[in-house]
Amino acid sequence: MKITIVGAGYVGLVSAACFAELGNHVLCVDRDAGRVERLKQAQVPIFEPGLPELVAKNNGAGRLVFTTDMKAGVAHADILFIAVGTPPAGDSSADIGQVLAVADAIGESLSRFLVVVDKSTVPVGTADKVRETISRAMKRRARREKPGRRPPEFTVVSNPEFLKEGAAVEDFMRPDRVVIGVSDDAAGRKAEALMRQVYAPFNRNRERLIVMDVRSAELTKYAANALLATKISFMNDMANLADALGADIEKVRQGIGSDRRIGYDFIYAGLGYGGSCFPKDVAALCHTAREHGERMRVVEAVRAVNDAQKRRFVERIEDYFGGSLQGKVIALWGLAFKPATDDVREAPSRYIVRRLVALGARIQAHDPQVRSLEQLMPAENVARLGRHVDFAADPMQAACGADALVIATEWKVYRSPDFPALRRLLRQPVIFDGRNLFDPADMKRLGFFYQGVGRRSAP
Ligand code: NAD
Repeated sequence: MKITIVGAGYVGLVSAACFAELGNHVLCVDRDAGRVERLKQAQVPIFEPGLPELVAKNNGAGRLVFTTDMKAGVAHADILFIAVGTPPAGDSSADIGQVLAVADAIGESLSRFLVVVDKSTVPVGTADKVRETISRAMKRRARREKPGRRPPEFTVVSNPEFLKEGAAVEDFMRPDRVVIGVSDDAAGRKAEALMRQVYAPFNRNRERLIVMDVRSAELTKYAANALLATKISFMNDMANLADALGADIEKVRQGIGSDRRIGYDFIYAGLGYGGSCFPKDVAALCHTAREHGERMRVVEAVRAVNDAQKRRFVERIEDYFGGSLQGKVIALWGLAFKPATDDVREAPSRYIVRRLVALGARIQAHDPQVRSLEQLMPAENVARLGRHVDFAADPMQAACGADALVIATEWKVYRSPDFPALRRLLRQPVIFDGRNLFDPADMKRLGFFYQGVGRRSAP
């Protein structure tokens, strides 16, 4: 099938490469000319395991082509997926400007039946806005070109994406489910048939498609992310109570995770969730509810707990050093919002760096994928923080001469350090572990002051 994907980011590029791998002819459009130039040479601009190989292979085979030309993208496609960003707007709603810009460009050049698929995470009702925007652009064009000519048909489908960064290729190739929202009319039925065809290779093991109306599909994505964020904040709330009670949240996690109704996933206590999805999607869901005269009381609390969690963690460090970090050197392991990605959007590490520097500390940072302050922070912060933050080539170098080690991301490479060497390198054997990587009793035995999240030893 001929597929166009608009947006060559984490979702768009992975979708494009995976659809191409299955034999489709994929044209991937991005407005960022530099990104497209690099992709044409099979240079992948993001870190995602397995993706460079897929891009190189399918690009080489001519099944995956990159362009900035939106007209070519529209002309190529039987199905066009919109996978552009939907960043948070100032009022915590989702900014769908990029999605509507793509819709406008589609209307400007559409000449035959097209299935337009919203793969970006978009608030309920966006498919209607995409439809209106395309229609408006088509009318504008018709007035300019050939008034009276019958406009081509199109339909807008919702197909939210559930992949996880760090395992995106695997998730895309073996999805738990594929949610499709179609309209209840002839065009919607035609779209459903095409979507079934596109996703047929993913169904060989079992049926994974869940077909529903468009609004329910749009809401499903927010419900999924809000529920996962709820599990995380619930556990962090519980961890803080465990601290106060002298219980160990890791023991509690195992105790409840063994219940199949609860499960082990997403119940780790830590620094809270970050990344490009949960924070903005949880905020946007609360915003949508308020717009419709409802309140998501649970989800609002989830946000508040998450915001407080990283502040609380830094307060612990501050308390340990008697309220000031002036002249202290802090080693920081992990900057990406989670392991196996280079994505730092809304990463807790950003707050930790800003706050520790504000308290007077100098940071020696290490991350396997984030290797400069420019990668971590917006430009205005880089200028301010630059001379307080150094980057180390490896974790041990970061620890060298530091007054404490702070762990913010649970990269595998941090899980089994040479503890005696680490102890020798640190100026003080102090670890604040925001990801609960180690056993507090072991750490005590090894001679460290060790502070995890929700793991204070019994009073
Ligand atoms: P991203 O920022 O990595 O990529 C978006 C790309 O779209 C960029 O390369 C940008 O240049 C391009 N773009 C923007 N406007 C364009 C236009 N008018 N024409 C052509 N290209 C344009 O974003 P992402 O992380 O891939 O997320 C995309 C969407 O998918 C968002 O709605 C996000 O919430 C959702 N999502 C993301 C993830 C994830 O793990 N990142 C998972 C599920 C869903």
